[in-house]
Amino acid sequence: MRGRVRSGVTAACLLLAVAGCGQAHPKPRPTPPAAAQRAPVLRGFVIVVDPGHGRDPRTGRYTGATGVNGVAEDANVLDIAVRLAHLLRADGATVVVTRGTYDPGPPPIRGLMARVRTAARVHANLFISIHQNDDPRGRPSTHGAATYYFTPASRALALDVQRALVAGTGLQDDGIHRRAFFVLLPWSRPSVLVEGGYLSNPQEARRISTARFHQEEAAALARGIVAYARSRPLRP
Ligand SMILES: [Zn+2]
Repeated sequence: MRGRVRSGVTAACLLLAVAGCGQAHPKPRPTPPAAAQRAPVLRGFVIVVDPGHGRDPRTGRYTGATGVNGVAEDANVLDIAVRLAHLLRADGATVVVTRGTYDPGPPPIRGLMARVRTAARVHANLFISIHQNDDPRGRPSTHGAATYYFTPASRALALDVQRALVAGTGLQDDGIHRRAFFVLLPWSRPSVLVEGGYLSNPQEARRISTARFHQEEAAALARGIVAYARSRPLRP
């Protein structure tokens, strides 16, 4: 994709040079901004952005974490997802966010199935689920960020996303891990699940509940996805 763009720019430069040769006083031509010369790197990608959890539309039941600061995981990750969707669209992707306030089905399993069905319906070629963590033993010192994948084809995406997430947020690098989470099963598209920080850690919970952090994480995830897309342009 990059090669095509570069050769297109070169051809345009050559044309301009030839046109200029025949004129005694060639008019100055406005130079298009660099961004206009580049094809959007995510053009052709259909990306499903999945904010984890959400409330049961009928009962209000909720399966996500609640921070020691009282902030709920589902609200934080929805804000990150909306910001990420905006950034990915700016890079040319078609983006579908799996939910608003509510879990798309009764949690847990029907809600998860609905997310996977959404990805199938829109023929997504990339899936990212966004979560925040909770130490199972309630230890307040546990902190950091990790990315999960299951299929071998998802590993490269996990690496790019985790690298960008750690670099962009400064969260401790807890690495990538292979896990059979429902949304990561072999659904025929690279899929990752991100756990960006611990709501059970008082300092981290405070930080990862701010709009500033949400924007930092969204920008980092977008960079990770762009890095992945650049190394694997879509085949026609
Ligand atoms: Zn979660």
